[in-house]
Amino acid sequence: MTPDGAAHLIDAHVHLMTPERTASGIRWIRRVVPDYQALPETTTAVEVLAHVEAAGAEVVFSLFYPLRGGESRRINRWHSRFAGWAARRPGGGAKVVAFASVHPDDDDPGRVAEEALGTLDLAGLKLHPYVQRLDPLDPRLSPALAAAQESGRPLIIHTGFAAFYGQPDLAAAVFALAERYPRLRIVAAHLLYPELPLGAWPRYLERYPNLYLDATNVLSVAGPGTPDGESLARLLDVWSHRFVFGSDHPMGMAYPVDKLYTLARAAVPTDRAREDLLWRTAAGLVERRRLPEALARDLEGPAGP
Ligand SMILES: [Zn+2]
Repeated sequence: MTPDGAAHLIDAHVHLMTPERTASGIRWIRRVVPDYQALPETTTAVEVLAHVEAAGAEVVFSLFYPLRGGESRRINRWHSRFAGWAARRPGGGAKVVAFASVHPDDDDPGRVAEEALGTLDLAGLKLHPYVQRLDPLDPRLSPALAAAQESGRPLIIHTGFAAFYGQPDLAAAVFALAERYPRLRIVAAHLLYPELPLGAWPRYLERYPNLYLDATNVLSVAGPGTPDGESLARLLDVWSHRFVFGSDHPMGMAYPVDKLYTLARAAVPTDRAREDLLWRTAAGLVERRRLPEALARDLEGPAGP
């Protein structure tokens, strides 16, 4: 058990990427979060993983997506190799649960997704419509989304902070995806915040049982004591079984990463919500075989005497 009382810790939003993409990510976040001046641009994915492990993460959902067509296969293969390397480390360490991505300008996005979820055995799909400059409803992506749905693996999609990105709100697109792919579990990263008022979520969570929320970054701007703090606590209280959280490391809202873990622990109104937010909901989104044994066992129910 970790000191805050949660049995486990899954960081469901981390970016383990190639050196070039890590460097450009760090340069980008420094403009918004000055803490990252302390993190060298030369930081490697191995070091990023070591940071979250040292802060207590037992499982890391890693997200790495292409910026343009033609890059996806290379990125997915790199990501799969990295997860394999992490799993084979002597002495263990956090499990890396790597997500695939795809781009509508790829030659055959459906085939890219099939390879990623098949041979490469990646854990699901991630899309970032703003940074990838794509429309998630682009018909060219339909075969990839259908492949994810058939595989039973989730889609994590960036939503929210539209004004910051200077791009249109994604609410309609996210709900249309949930409607169109009812068996695809869709994780709305950043809760469409602040475009969608937090108080509107219960209605959508009831309507779309396949919709999940990733509180990454939102906890930094809507935590206890902020104007939206109470609405977020209320939402977490009732809907924690649909909530995951992550750090967005090495492009998060604070550095070092344990600052963000502390924030997540402080944001939960009850013990049950803490277990859900810190690991239980995330664990339920992926196959048991991707999880450490003890964690998978605890997922089945409270530990017996
Ligand atoms: Zn992210």
